[in-house]
Order: sequence, then C-alpha cells, then structure tokens
Amino acid sequence: MNQSIAVVGAGICGLFTGLSLARQGFDVTLFERDVPPPQGNAEEAFFSWQRRGAAQFRHPHAFLGLMCSVLGEKYPDLLDELLAAGARKLTFEDMVPDHLADQYQPEAGDEKLWMLLCRRATIETVLRHYVAREPNLRIQSQTYVTDVIVEEAQSVQGKPTLTVTGLELTDRHNQNTKSTHSADIIVNASGRADKFYQWLQHKGADIVEQRDDAEIVYYTRHYALNEGVSEPKRDSENPSAGDLGYLKYGVFPGDNGHFAIIVCLPNEETELREAVKDGDKFNQICMNIPGLVPWITPAAATPTTAPFGIGEIHAVWRDYIPSDESPKLLNYFAVGDAAARTNPLYGRGCSTGTLHAHLLSEVLSSESDPWQRALAFKAKTEEEIRPIFNASLNEDKNGIKKAAAAREGRSLDRAKSIKQWFALAFGDALVAAAKYQLHVHRGIMRTVNLVEKPGSFLKDKRIRNTVFRYMLRGRKKNAAARIQRSASRDEMIKIVGELT
Ligand SMILES: Cc1cc2nc3c(=O)[nH]c(=O)nc-3n(C[C@H](O)[C@H](O)[C@H](O)COP(=O)(O)OP(=O)(O)OC[C@H]3O[C@@H](n4cnc5c(N)ncnc54)[C@H](O)[C@@H]3O)c2cc1C
Repeated sequence: MNQSIAVVGAGICGLFTGLSLARQGFDVTLFERDVPPPQGNAEEAFFSWQRRGAAQFRHPHAFLGLMCSVLGEKYPDLLDELLAAGARKLTFEDMVPDHLADQYQPEAGDEKLWMLLCRRATIETVLRHYVAREPNLRIQSQTYVTDVIVEEAQSVQGKPTLTVTGLELTDRHNQNTKSTHSADIIVNASGRADKFYQWLQHKGADIVEQRDDAEIVYYTRHYALNEGVSEPKRDSENPSAGDLGYLKYGVFPGDNGHFAIIVCLPNEETELREAVKDGDKFNQICMNIPGLVPWITPAAATPTTAPFGIGEIHAVWRDYIPSDESPKLLNYFAVGDAAARTNPLYGRGCSTGTLHAHLLSEVLSSESDPWQRALAFKAKTEEEIRPIFNASLNEDKNGIKKAAAAREGRSLDRAKSIKQWFALAFGDALVAAAKYQLHVHRGIMRTVNLVEKPGSFLKDKRIRNTVFRYMLRGRKKNAAARIQRSASRDEMIKIVGELT
C-alpha cells in the first residue's frame, strides 16, 4: 500500500511538497487553517482572500531563477496557467541593462536566469487550483493543526525514538471540535508561525534552533499603473532597487498592471519608521529616491493600498538531529520556512522552499527506512539549503553594520588591515566590473537567482581576472559605481519631518 502523508500548511512550500509527493505515488492530505482562494481572477485573490496564516501574503514576492527553473522543467503546464493568469516571464536578456546590451550574446545557462513577475496572491491561487486537481491528494481547509502525536520507544541500539504518527486537528469554526488524523509521515510546512518546534520539544525531541535578528522592518505599498501608462524603462544610473545604507528600497513589478514598492528600514530608524506608515510620507520618501520617481508620479500610477509593514525578520535554522545522542525523530520532516528562513529582502524563501520540497520528495521516494530518510534529508538540506542560509545571514550582518555606520555618520570604507583593504578593494572592483562588463553581471545574476551556490561565479577565471583588472583602476574610481543619487539620511528625516 502507498504510504500516507499529512502536510501541514498549504502555502507555497506545502503545495509543492504535496504536489511532488502525490506524483511519486504517495497518498497526500494537506491541512490548512485558512479559507481556500475566492472564486475569480487575480484581483479577487489579491484584494479579498483572507490569508492570516501567511502574514507575508500581501507583501510583494520575487520568484527567482531557482524556483522558475523548477516550474519550467517539472510543471510546464502550471507555468502556462500562471502566464494565462497575468504572470510575466522576465528573461535574463530582458534584465540586461541598456548600456550592456551590445555585449549580450546568449550563453548556456541563461535559460535558468529568469524571474516570474506576479503578486503572490496570483501564484498561490493558480498553484492551489493546480495542486487540488491531483488524484492522490486532498486539501482540507479551515482546519487548525493544534498538536502532533508522538510515540516514544527504545530503539534496538538503546537510543530513544520518537515516532510521529499523527496530528490533532481543530475545526476553525468550532474550536471545541477536535479530531485526530493518522499518517505514515508528517510534513511540517506551516511557515513562520510554526508551532511543531515547541510541541516536539515538549515531547522530548532535541531540536537546536539558530535565530538571528536582521534588525529591520519591511514596509510595502501597492500601486496600479494608470490607464495607458507602461512600466518605466530600466535605468542603471537610477536603479529601481537599491541600498542607501539607512534605507533599502525596491520596485516589484507584478501582474495585470500592478506593482509594489518596498521600503526597508533598520529598527533604530525611529523617525523614518514612523513616517513610512503614512501614505503621503511613504510617497514623499519614494519621490526623493530617483529610481522610484518614474514609477510613482501621480501621472504614472495610483496607490491601491495604504503602506503596511511586517517585523520579526529573523534568519532561522532548525536542526532536528543536532547530535548522535539526540532521540531519533522519525517520520517527521520540516520544510520551507518552518525549517530554514532567510531575510525577505533577498527574495529567496519561495525558491529555497520549492527546492526543499523537491529534496524531500526525492528522499522519501528513494529511501524506505525511517532513520535513513531522516539522515538523508538532513544531509541534502545541509548541502543545498545551508549555503544559501549562511550567505543570507552574512548579508544581514553586513547590513546591520552598514545601517549603524549610516546612523552614526561613520564610513565603513577605511581599512584597518591589509586583509580588510583587499576585501574592500575587491568589493568595489566587483561592483564596478558588474556594472560595465556583462559576463560579471551574468555571474552575479547566477548567484542572485540561486542557480548556483552563492558566490560560485567568483571561481570563474575570466570573471576573477576582470575584477582584478578593475582593482588596478583604484578604489576611488570603482567606488563611484556604487554611488546612488538620493536624499541623504538627514535630508530624508527633514523632508518627512516637514510634512504634517
Ligand atoms: C515580508 C516578506 C516578503 C517576502 N518576500 C519574498 C520574495 O520576494 N521572494 C521569496 O521567494 N520569498 C519571499 N518571502 C519568503 C516567503 O514568503 C516564504 O519563504 C514562503 O512563503 C515559505 O513558504 P512556506 O510554505 O514554508 O510557508 P507559508 O507560505 O507561510 O505557508 C505556511 C502555511 O501554513 C499554514 N499554517 C500555519 N500554521 C498552521 C496550522 N497550525 N494548521 C494549519 N495550517 C497552518 C498557513 O496558513 C500557511 O498557509 C517573503 C517573506 C516575507 C515575510
């Protein structure tokens, strides 16, 4: 008989987990606390779908090359449905800045470097309908999973085992109506709000959590392009996404004429944090960042929402087999945000979650012994997801340092040692080389899109040689490639302070 699998959470990762496992012949039931998507198109889903279970649902999402390649290679018919719903494919060639266009020659691997542009509501609705049509799979909505059922035993080698055998369910409309569901395997895809971590610890599991605060808040506002207005062209001098040290910003083009702007601020930027909650001040901040101006002038676009924010941005990694002495946790797997979470600024979560879902599917279809499955899934997670997590955490730490320096009016450009000087000079040269040399830009885009391990492009001899050649130009010249025109921090605080 095919094994039964219960997946908790029908978000992006839960849906991909269910889909890939059902296609491997497993019998899958997904449990989801929220209501299903409303009838209708992307507009209905975006404006009226109640998705309290995924707090980030209305924040814009970038869907990177890693996730897009999975879509294109494994589910081309799903991709067709997404395009029919208004999602757009942005190819690597589309992303080449105008001033590099004459250097562009297609190369093997470019086909993986594309992004899908649409609102999360659009992708989730289409994905959900697609997954719900799978024969071996059902989705039970409006059902809270409120506990996990575990059987404790001594294994043959004397180490305790904790075997996960089922779930406690609570009906969303009648909190007193509880039931249980047994399954051969339980997959936790419950995202940021994951409670398995505590439930399993109470039942004796040894779970080690690494948690690092990115010390930022993330604000979003959505807009629709006015009738007859096209999206502004890319402008490499005034990019539509960037890092001003005290503030990070970005435009997320969506589907059906919609786009969103994010403004990300360090926790300690109190005046700007207060200001950004107000629609007029949010727009005023954007009007003082040249790369955003063509998007949000009143002639170009109209806001469709007020600004709204999300905090508690942490990098989180959970290890379910931290040591040889830990009890053996069997028939339980955590995927996506419930297992590994990165700062949304890098747009990686859906890609790593999709990859994670498919890694689990590979493990469960190739191994049958529960302990071997646990070990193999841990090994694959460490190999494929950990490098992305580590790179993201590193970027968070640099971002924290940069933001503190901006607040204190310090420069981080002065080196205290030769090693540090080299690192700074190399960083400046890399930015400048990527701005003017297409093959370096392509290398960076491979890392951004997660189609290779972070930073692997630096092993490419041609790219390294180019960066060293740029180093010879001197730091001052290279650092100029980084400079972005915009209001300084003090000016921005003054500008919003003057608005009533
Ligand atoms: C502000 C923000 C912006 C982001 N931007 C991007 C981006 O640009 N690109 C990108 O790739 N990623 C982005 N991410 C990350 C991305 O949203 C997540 O990595 C991704 O959604 C993880 O998928 P998941 O399925 O693990 O969790 P989720 O998508 O959060 O889904 C979890 C599901 O579990 C359900 N659930 C939870 N608890 C229970 C329970 N007890 N019982 C039943 N159901 C339950 C929830 O209702 C939800 O449907 C962003 C995150 C944030 C916070």
